[in-house]
Amino acid sequence: MFKTTMNVDALFLGPKSENREFFKEMVDYAVDEHIHWRADFHPEDAPLLSPMDQHQPDFRNTLYRTEGILRQLSSKLKTTSVPWFSPRYLGHMNADTLMVSNIAYVMTMLYNPNNCAHEASPTTTELELEAGRDLCAMFGYDVQKSWGHITSGGTVANYEGVWVARNLKSLPLAIAQHEKAKDLVAGMSEKQLLNMSPTAILDLSDELKKRELFEEVRALTVRGVGVKQGQLGKFLVPMSKHYSWMKAMDVMGIGQEHIVPLPVDENYRTDVETMRAITFKLIEEGTPILGMVAVVGTTEEGSIDHVDEVIKLRRECEEKYGVSFYVHVDAAYGGYVRSMFLDENSKFMEYDALIARYRAEDIIPEGVTWPKRAVYEGFKAMSEADSITVDPHKAGFIQYAAGAVCMKDKRIVDLISYHAAYVFEEADDAGEEQNVVLGSSIMEGSKAGATAAAVWAAHRLVPLNVSGYGKVIGRGIVTADWFAQKLSMAKPIVVGNRRFELRPLMHPDFHMVNFTFKEIGNPSLEDHNRLNQRMYEVCSYSSGRTYSNDFLTSSTSLAFDEYGDTPWIYAESRGFSRREWDKTQSVYILRAAVMTHFLRDPQGFEDYWTNLRAIFAEKLGHIIDMEAKEANQLKAA
Ligand SMILES: *Cc1c(COP(=O)(O)O)cnc(C)c1O
Repeated sequence: MFKTTMNVDALFLGPKSENREFFKEMVDYAVDEHIHWRADFHPEDAPLLSPMDQHQPDFRNTLYRTEGILRQLSSKLKTTSVPWFSPRYLGHMNADTLMVSNIAYVMTMLYNPNNCAHEASPTTTELELEAGRDLCAMFGYDVQKSWGHITSGGTVANYEGVWVARNLKSLPLAIAQHEKAKDLVAGMSEKQLLNMSPTAILDLSDELKKRELFEEVRALTVRGVGVKQGQLGKFLVPMSKHYSWMKAMDVMGIGQEHIVPLPVDENYRTDVETMRAITFKLIEEGTPILGMVAVVGTTEEGSIDHVDEVIKLRRECEEKYGVSFYVHVDAAYGGYVRSMFLDENSKFMEYDALIARYRAEDIIPEGVTWPKRAVYEGFKAMSEADSITVDPHKAGFIQYAAGAVCMKDKRIVDLISYHAAYVFEEADDAGEEQNVVLGSSIMEGSKAGATAAAVWAAHRLVPLNVSGYGKVIGRGIVTADWFAQKLSMAKPIVVGNRRFELRPLMHPDFHMVNFTFKEIGNPSLEDHNRLNQRMYEVCSYSSGRTYSNDFLTSSTSLAFDEYGDTPWIYAESRGFSRREWDKTQSVYILRAAVMTHFLRDPQGFEDYWTNLRAIFAEKLGHIIDMEAKEANQLKAA
């Protein structure tokens, strides 16, 4: 036996298509196999098309047109697509994608499985359930008791989290309304019914199943009768939320006004003290809390919420007030990072052992601060959340469209399922999950089995632990730290007689690095924002020259409307007055997810940084010229 180790550079096609030979060979293999699969089906059947047919003018013509359309598509794609694969792209949270997933997708797509129903996807439904179990194990869930499945993305995964929370939290009220079930909640007030813990409600659902009343009572939940205005209470969601939470409240009929926004601190994590104060105030007012959300990897800042504090708070509310609520973790962006903490047995490592391993295997070298204690504790506590959103198409390095949702207690599926029987009870009887009809237990219907195959294949090659995804994600984390360090210490960039200072928004929790350019001596926040917006425009697809651009990034505006006064902390550190902040109420920033596996070599990174500074200087010069021209035009007019 020899120990197999995984080489990160062998996982990707590479920024210069370095692994092209292998890639082509495997794509050819996939296509060949499929062609034979068809041809070998009932060899006694004669071909249904003859060479004569294939030489008919309209037949040839159709093929020529097919070729023409594909050539047209290819030229469109090559002209305006975004080169995610390159280290010159540091923007949204996607980078080069895993070869194994790309090829697994193409290979499977040819067989066209539909994971809506097992009968339409005998192979890939199994793969989806296996991939779901992998994710549950990564989050520290008991794989026997939990379940996870693939969605089109984090948006739909969040919808599903709200969907189960909503139906679950309305079950006790439904029980109280059913003649033959109401004894189960005898003596409880409406307030008490609305404040039950998810586990207690699921235990009641077991009792209903025993009495064969489950379906009748379920019809009395909001699923059957609809949501009564505000009845289920509030959803506490951090201000750093992705906008899919607003959509979710809309789609699920809960209503956006029933979101209670939780302020964030200077690290863009939910502010614990305020979160606690808001929660206790709601309880004291008698307002039920339907659910609380923690974000692991905020979309704009990559911040990791104190999930441990949310879990602790819930326990405290249960003990002190008899009030509980649903907890969902939105880890669309950061979910796969939990693999950084797991050993080969999926055990969450002790802090010191973890750091020792990082150093021994050069995953996180000396001089890089990761993980901060708070980040470590946040990831650790994810195992206690009721459900978790995670996007394989973000930090899982898998191509679109691959999201996922995991649920700690799979009994919860019956609250949303459209299956005649209880989904997993039947499955357990059969010994395996043969009968799971995904389409009737999840939000979506027909969906690509190819996605399931892509995620499954990635997990087989790149295990969800420190020696698998840990190595891949670790590269980005290290590079992000180096990048943030460079920005913190960067000497001003001099263009003519003007000087521009670069600084990061904060030290990243993960691998998103936000930063701005500030002209030294400029007191106007509005001018600062304009400069950074222009910088984005010249460093992005909106420059109109994506393929020839030297550097590409993304951007966002941190505004008072979404974040309260938190962005003021950065504005102040950049030397803007409070008056400027009150007037402008937003800070425009550049936003770089550093996911590339390609800048992990210290010397390589030094060279990259030197080159990037030169690019920045050139871009600033370009903006100054542009502004001078605009000023002249104004004068002329
Ligand atoms: C990206 C993201 C989403 C939405 O996921 P999609 O895959 O784009 O649907 C939700 N929440 C967070 C925190 C995200 O970063």
